[in-house]
Amino acid sequence: MEFSFSGISSESSPEAGEEKVRILILGSGPAGLSAALYAARADLDPVVLTGMELGGQVSLTHIVENYPGFPEGVGGMEMVELFQKQAERFGARIEIDTAIEVDLSEQPLKVKTQSDKLYLAETLIIATGASAVHLNVPGESEFTGRGVSYCATCDGWFFKDRDVLVVGGGDSALEEGLFLTRYADSVTIVHRRDELRAGPILQERAKSNPKISFMWNTIVKEISGNGAVDTVQLQDTQTGEQRMQETEGVFIFIGHHPNSEMFKDQLEMDENGYLIVDKRMQTSVPGVFAAGEIADPIFRQVITSAGMGAAAAMSAGHFLDEEVGFSA
Ligand code: NAP
Repeated sequence: MEFSFSGISSESSPEAGEEKVRILILGSGPAGLSAALYAARADLDPVVLTGMELGGQVSLTHIVENYPGFPEGVGGMEMVELFQKQAERFGARIEIDTAIEVDLSEQPLKVKTQSDKLYLAETLIIATGASAVHLNVPGESEFTGRGVSYCATCDGWFFKDRDVLVVGGGDSALEEGLFLTRYADSVTIVHRRDELRAGPILQERAKSNPKISFMWNTIVKEISGNGAVDTVQLQDTQTGEQRMQETEGVFIFIGHHPNSEMFKDQLEMDENGYLIVDKRMQTSVPGVFAAGEIADPIFRQVITSAGMGAAAAMSAGHFLDEEVGFSA
């Protein structure tokens, strides 16, 4: 990878479009905003680059029922707004901008953004999260936004009184499927096995909902339509038999992949692209920390991501105390 950051040393004064920061946080989901809260309360003047998805995945969730402190649940977007407000109250600065290139080979760490700004950071907290996995079948990208969706909260309203399919058998598929029953006439969960991966509470709710039915041992082979989705081709995974099914909506919830491409060849990651961190959230480069789903292939909950964000900010604070960095 080539960088256009040449000639910038820790001693040079920042030029126009450059800014020195003590803690730069990439991502505005629960991990990034919790890191911002902790760093701000430690008087470290953190700057958060929101990334393309303001609030991360939780902002697309209709309701979060398993975050302590909200006995009645809390809307995903509302939760993000509360996180942001709390971090800002202590001085965190939230910039609507996205990192597009990094150079972590020396101090200061360099992060170039979409708006052509260059941050020179003493420490970096990567909380860029994960994004929806695609089925990669014909018609999927062509009909995204025209019947194919990865977000029931965003698009459910468009499917009032329609029959929709939900692909997947995990918590997301069932939770989003349940949400879709508010609008759709029927929701068919298409799962590639005959056993759900989702937890028992969601399974029970989905199975007892009269609008939800299950299509077991079935995969989607192709999505087609005329301007918008009208049919999908399905295949039975046991017999290989294929059939067409009419539907106007295909909601896909088959997992997520970490948003770590930008750090390839610079930070250690596992075979699936998750950043490897130690107990202190430090990555393979000193001063670079990671938190949330980018570094967590196992738990992936709002509460665990928030905890990792707080831990990363505390570690970044220790790093700044102990290392002789440049002064911002
Ligand atoms: P997930 O648990 O990884 O489930 C993905 C589902 O998609 C699985 O059922 C999987 O089938 C299926 N799948 C994967 N690739 C597929 C393909 N190419 N074609 C067809 N089906 C495919 O993902 P998730 O549901 O997004 O959940 C992610 C994490 O977030 C989990 O830890 C989950 O517990 C958590 N979460 C929690 C809540 C909650 O607590 N309320 C809500 C949402 C998410 P197999 O089962 O056969 O592998």
